[in-house]
Amino acid sequence: METTRNVQPVTVDLGKEGSGELVSSRYAVRVGDVNVVVISDGVLPLPTSTMSTNVSEADRNEWFDGRFLQRDTFDWALNVALVRSGEHLILIDSGVGDGFEYFARAGQSVRRLESAGIDLAALTDIVITHMHMDHVGGLNVDGVRAKLRPDVRIHVAAAEVAFWENPDFSKTVMPEAVPPALRKAAAKFMQLYGENVVPFDRTVNVAPGVSARVTGGHTPGHCVVDVASKGEKLTFVGDAIFEVNFDHPDWQNGFEHDPEKAKDVRIALLDEAAETGALLAAAHVGFPSVCHVAKDGDRFRSVPVVWDY
Ligand SMILES: [Zn+2]
Repeated sequence: METTRNVQPVTVDLGKEGSGELVSSRYAVRVGDVNVVVISDGVLPLPTSTMSTNVSEADRNEWFDGRFLQRDTFDWALNVALVRSGEHLILIDSGVGDGFEYFARAGQSVRRLESAGIDLAALTDIVITHMHMDHVGGLNVDGVRAKLRPDVRIHVAAAEVAFWENPDFSKTVMPEAVPPALRKAAAKFMQLYGENVVPFDRTVNVAPGVSARVTGGHTPGHCVVDVASKGEKLTFVGDAIFEVNFDHPDWQNGFEHDPEKAKDVRIALLDEAAETGALLAAAHVGFPSVCHVAKDGDRFRSVPVVWDY
């Protein structure tokens, strides 16, 4: 891994305090009567090999070359989402939080929510797609628990909660320091929020037009969130689909606890989106990640939405 990489967000002096952040950090999309806002938590620099643990270096290089990216490390997007439906204001995942020096360019979700005028106390529900630290870490930041409503409902699959009591890393391929950090973050999350967790088995209706369904694969209790209203649909797929997987749905990711199942889940979700025309959003597809999916032989194409600004 490179050690000289810039670890600060890209900024520019616009001559006014508080306006210097160059990146656009939130993107709104309407799904029928439901409002969805994708918020960038920042980016995580990671080795490219993490994206493709089951392919040759030559094949990996070819893909990264084709994307005009470096061959050794790349910046992995990290997105969360905010959904407003009726009386419900729902946060999906929470970013990586703080305490990880190498990931200092991420962990921005809470600040960006607040700068968008979203008071954490207004959240009625939180859905956690899975309990990896880049999804629960934002809730673990000091002071966040106190800002949330004491009775905020946190929807997590029962299988996910059970898995992290004794997690199995035997099929993952992660940098050595990562599994202990993941265990620690999951334990802290349960310690802080155990009483708020509303576990669900296969699916849960969170709000009108908003539901979560367990897919497993990436982790045993990994879920995706479906937003459906007035004939329109968007699925936030969490970590089921990564950028590289549109071209190579069979490329395994080192963070997958069951890579074979993760592949099946991914292909099923991509097929589903291609057939239904639903929008997808994803935790680790380049911000804002919102796209349609087209099928192209045994590959898929991500068709990004036109930014509506
Ligand atoms: Zn993730």
